Amino acid sequence: MFILCFAVASILLEGLFVRLPVVPKGENANERIGVIHVHTKASDGSGTVADVMAAAEGANLSFIAITDHNVAITEDELAEDPPDLPIISGVEIGTRAGHFLALGIPPSWQQPKTNDDRELLAAAGAVGAFRVLAHPFHPHTPWTDWNTSDFDGMEIWNEDAAWRQNNFFDLMDALLLYGENSQLALVRLASTPDDNFAKWDEILQQRPVAGICAADTHARIRLAFGHDWRFPGYVPSLKVAREHVLLPPGAGNGNPALASAAELVDALRKGHSFCGLDSLYPADGFSFHVTSANASGGPGDFLPWKESARLQISTPPGTSIPLIKVFRNGREFASEQTRTLDEPIPGPGRYRTEVFLPQPGFSGLRAWTLWVFTNPVYVTAQ
Ligand SMILES: [Zn+2]
Ligand SMILES: [Zn+2]
Repeated sequence: MFILCFAVASILLEGLFVRLPVVPKGENANERIGVIHVHTKASDGSGTVADVMAAAEGANLSFIAITDHNVAITEDELAEDPPDLPIISGVEIGTRAGHFLALGIPPSWQQPKTNDDRELLAAAGAVGAFRVLAHPFHPHTPWTDWNTSDFDGMEIWNEDAAWRQNNFFDLMDALLLYGENSQLALVRLASTPDDNFAKWDEILQQRPVAGICAADTHARIRLAFGHDWRFPGYVPSLKVAREHVLLPPGAGNGNPALASAAELVDALRKGHSFCGLDSLYPADGFSFHVTSANASGGPGDFLPWKESARLQISTPPGTSIPLIKVFRNGREFASEQTRTLDEPIPGPGRYRTEVFLPQPGFSGLRAWTLWVFTNPVYVTAQ
């Protein structure tokens, strides 16, 4: 009993004294920071579109993708969209093989009345949607049809699936922390999605597929007897895993801060983005590039291989020293505790990175926690 009381008191004290950084509005000219995969009352979320937009502003986002189950957002709801915080119109489509997101779907789009994943993927593709497999390794609703290649992206990190992977004690720790320090509680529940990374690397051997992180925010857990618990709330949830979209200088008619939802979807589809678990530390300004001869490219870009090609990574200042891992064709090729990396690369291949920071606070035991992952840079043989 004494040990239990001591453990609870320690966790509560930690919640009071560990302060994580404020998650700011991104200020880099070509980088828009947003959250993908959010539910509203139109399906099983607890808030209206207006509530979600207010939370998105509170979480300092610069775009949001609303994806209710089997119901597309309407024209009227999209009108809640200010120019500096566009809504990506989306839907989460349930199929017999699992769920996928259709992003950039026309408002009020009616999906075919079938649960056949191939038909639904084709229908969403026919109207130009960016199709992303949702929580492919979720414990209850995984994706099961790996024989189709008719999709454009996959969720590598899904917050809802990630927190469910914790054991009972970790969940209790986070629940105790949540009331006084929601940011720390949700950071504690982060886990590295090894299955997702492995499957992504396997698919990337065949073709480029964009990897993104998703919140899957409902701001609701259904309890017994028709009761709900609003956990985790919209604002805390929208601060955790944010997709940083890298836009070309011409976006937004020369002002990328005003890039449209369509331009954001286009960049996401091309893999011009990286994910940051910004609650741990804001990843704004993180940079991952390959230079080869006179050309330079970041996530999603293709470059021809030259002998002198180098890979360069720089991380935002202010963190403890991160652990940077670089993968070439799915195999780890560098692993170093450093703030910057500048190394020759051994040949053509797909290069992507995963970057880790230690958990804050004493009960986090400084465990390495996934902080950033990028889409690959594709270095092609001449
Ligand atoms: Zn789902
Ligand atoms: Zn969902």
